Amino acid sequence: MKSKSSLAIFGGPKSVTKDPGDMFTWPIITKEDENAVLEVLRRGAMSNLDVTLQFEKEFAAWQGRRYALAHNTGTASLEAAMFGCKVGIGDEIICPAATYWASCLACYSLGATVVFADIDPDTQCIDPSDIEPRISPRTKAIVVVHYMGYPVDMDRIMRIARKHKIKVIEDVSHGQGGVYKGRKLGTIGDVAGISLMSGKSLAIGEGGMLVTNDLEIYERALAWGHYERFGNKIKTKYLRPLAGLPLGGHKYRMHQLSSAVGRGQLRHFDQRCGEIRRAMNFFWDLLEGVPGIRAHRPPKNSNSHMGGWFAPHGLYRPQELNGLSVTRFAEAIRAEGVSCIPGMLRPLHLHPLFNTADIYGHGKPTRIANAARDLRQPPGSLPASEASQGLLYSIPWFKHYRPEIIRQYAMAFRKVAENYRELLKGDKGDPANLGLWSASRH
Ligand SMILES: *Cc1c(COP(=O)(O)O)cnc(C)c1O
Repeated sequence: MKSKSSLAIFGGPKSVTKDPGDMFTWPIITKEDENAVLEVLRRGAMSNLDVTLQFEKEFAAWQGRRYALAHNTGTASLEAAMFGCKVGIGDEIICPAATYWASCLACYSLGATVVFADIDPDTQCIDPSDIEPRISPRTKAIVVVHYMGYPVDMDRIMRIARKHKIKVIEDVSHGQGGVYKGRKLGTIGDVAGISLMSGKSLAIGEGGMLVTNDLEIYERALAWGHYERFGNKIKTKYLRPLAGLPLGGHKYRMHQLSSAVGRGQLRHFDQRCGEIRRAMNFFWDLLEGVPGIRAHRPPKNSNSHMGGWFAPHGLYRPQELNGLSVTRFAEAIRAEGVSCIPGMLRPLHLHPLFNTADIYGHGKPTRIANAARDLRQPPGSLPASEASQGLLYSIPWFKHYRPEIIRQYAMAFRKVAENYRELLKGDKGDPANLGLWSASRH
């Protein structure tokens, strides 16, 4: 029986009929990776440093920074970056509310706290115009996140930071290989922390990389969690008498199985990302002008691009679809044979961890334990971050440029958007708890 509707959710034909094959398989693992891992395993060199030092050297060269310091997680590299920037007791960092918690949370264990800035709805990244009003005499650093790969407007950020003499930490966990006005993400701020865990676009197992051109930041990061490398080669005077033991009490070096995978992944990364970009841009080009949906990518001819397109999402404009909820929209897309999840990461300032939790027994919430004022941010205080869940949906993360397959996926979005009227009737709206606190999808 032929359905009256063309939408699969009402019995019409599905848009996606072709087998995607290895279209979404990531990372791409070859014999080269297997052999590199087996070499480390068989040699019993899992906790050694030789492969890691090689990886750091190659990473620094690829990144275009003087120093690269490998960590066991991206979270650790970001904590080390904060310590490197002298974030300490009573200090504040500024961070967008829309990000994964590891962008900012380590500031708690340094005795510091975080002030969230709102985002720009078009980029989903920190809104540069919302930073300056949040700077206080205690602000030490701005953490910027190239969220879902979108390059933050670094020129504006750096101008603000230099004016107020505060550091900029780039969280490049979503944007490895991305470019802002011709410059690689991670080379513009004072220091960058980069997750390399398996869900990310540069995926090596578990791992993180700190990169900087600043010797003092680098040596502070070495001192923080790399005791065996914190020795008599340290040049920063005040650190020298402390050498030999980790200042943070942490052991943050990278597992060499990760370093071995990292070397191989890095070698092919630019070429593989190039293909991802071609595929993702092709997808969005097919959807140019479709009502209700917009590409989340920098303008063409901006000399900026998205690197490996980690966690790609589309922007949603319900006002162009008579208010159709993104939940209903995504449901119809899924019926077409496409994994499409509404929302993304919930704005962090609404979580109890940033409002009520007393983690260290200060007798008051950790957020304000060492702060000079109550800087907590109630619901309603960051409108763009709070609205973002209803304005985002995941799109397929293509790893290969295969136009015939990509066309089917794009058709699903076009068909649903163009037939949105059929969906209005059964639309129950977005649930209050749209989005996730962490990317548990991975
Ligand atoms: C994944 C991620 C991190 C943390 O990295 P791990 O390697 O998982 O510790 C930090 N910031 C952002 C934005 C991330 O997505």
